[in-house]
Amino acid sequence: MSLLNYKPNLYHISAYTPGVSKIAGIDKVIKLSSNESPYACSQKAVRAYQEASELIAKYPDGSCFYLKQAIADFYDVDKDRIICGAGSDNILELLAITFIDKDDEVIFTDKSFPVYRIVTHMAGGTPVEVPYTSDYRHDIDGIIQSITPKTKIIFIASPDNPTGSYVTSDEMHRLLQATPQDCLVVIDEAYYEFIQAEDAVRGMDFAHLYPNVAVTRTFSKVFGLASLRVGWGYLPPIAYEGVNRIRSPFNINTPAQMAAIAALDDKEWLSNSINSNNMQRKFMEKFYDDIGYDYIPSQANFICLKRNDAQHLFQFLQTKGIIVRTMSGNGSPELLRISLGTQSENEALQKAMTEYSSEVHYG
Ligand code: PMP
Repeated sequence: MSLLNYKPNLYHISAYTPGVSKIAGIDKVIKLSSNESPYACSQKAVRAYQEASELIAKYPDGSCFYLKQAIADFYDVDKDRIICGAGSDNILELLAITFIDKDDEVIFTDKSFPVYRIVTHMAGGTPVEVPYTSDYRHDIDGIIQSITPKTKIIFIASPDNPTGSYVTSDEMHRLLQATPQDCLVVIDEAYYEFIQAEDAVRGMDFAHLYPNVAVTRTFSKVFGLASLRVGWGYLPPIAYEGVNRIRSPFNINTPAQMAAIAALDDKEWLSNSINSNNMQRKFMEKFYDDIGYDYIPSQANFICLKRNDAQHLFQFLQTKGIIVRTMSGNGSPELLRISLGTQSENEALQKAMTEYSSEVHYG
């Protein structure tokens, strides 16, 4: 019998469940379950990745010098505040380990991105979970009321996953004015590039205005580099210093660094990808309006449906080779999160849903 055991706080964590990616018996599936880019990625990024194959016997540049420079130039921000991670998940984890001690509290929305709960427990902290408002937005007043002297991090995704809803600038000011300065507010902007709402929070503005704001971003979504695992954080100097002490020294491999730099250099590809996404968002929203499906208005690259028959629809779509994401494992059985695909993928989805509606309601 083994005497080994792992730390008790880890027993609070349910391992992250990724979306389904295969359907038995169907070769060509339409995968709309993980908010990936349906447009692959820039060819410049692919070429840079291939060229980097000559360098894989050597360790990567642990400081990500050129990648940070490219990010700083692209977004016009201070390169000394940028920290790179193996996906933005890695940055969320590093921030939790850096700031959370046993019994410190971490606030986030209960049915939002599950990684906040995982990293809180990993660091030994206590999650303080605030429900969404009735229209599936972050409840800023609820979050403010939950702040105590023990609160050390507030995680807030805008646009949010899985709802696609966003926090307004006014709400973020209100939250920050009510937050003690020894509590870090992490604005998770994994879906930042898809935002069109004028009043949506833009994390960088806040990171420059308030000393306790960190912003996280990723190359996994709009840039289409999900498998390379490149994310970054824009951190207050003290947070940068702490995180930099504990991150693994070579956390981004060379092909990933080079592909990310090349992706930033392909502005035309990027703007096509954003425009196509936002056209498809309108296309799907109009379809849902026409067919009478209830959805949460989205600023991201997915739309979340709200339906009592979400599980049934999920199963039905699988029989048509379409994989979407059920949120039942995250406590929201009524939600079905569906990534925006290409025009033809979305047409196939619409066809399947039209068939479903006629079978279920009129068949
Ligand atoms: N934040 C949010 C809100 C997300 O939805 C995701 C991706 N699922 C991430 C962070 C992490 O993305 P990555 O680690 O690929 O950068």
